[in-house]
Amino acid sequence: MGKDKEQYECGDCGHRDTRDFFPLAEDLFQRLTVGDIFTDVECPECGALAHPVEVSTPNWENNAIQYPRLIAELQMAGAFSQEVMEFLSESTDLSYWELGELVDRACEEWDAIKAAT
Ligand SMILES: [Zn+2]
Repeated sequence: MGKDKEQYECGDCGHRDTRDFFPLAEDLFQRLTVGDIFTDVECPECGALAHPVEVSTPNWENNAIQYPRLIAELQMAGAFSQEVMEFLSESTDLSYWELGELVDRACEEWDAIKAAT
């Protein structure tokens, strides 16, 4: 996610948008309190300080999770039969060994994801 796409939220009215739409805060150092999360922009609607917010991708929409999961589940379901591997090898121009490595990598990735959640 690029810095320009970072979401900011107004601490007062809740207005939320990407950083580009928040003007730089005036008199910043008189307004920040020790312990506050640092910010340098204010709300275009009400003028209160606005802070960056975490916009997390739901797991379901995260390809980095769902692709290895799908491959790992297919592997466990026995989907990569001799016949399928032959077909894949021809259509992808990858050797059996390379295909096997991709499946292994997906399974390892999925194991790591499961262990981390
Ligand atoms: Zn506001």
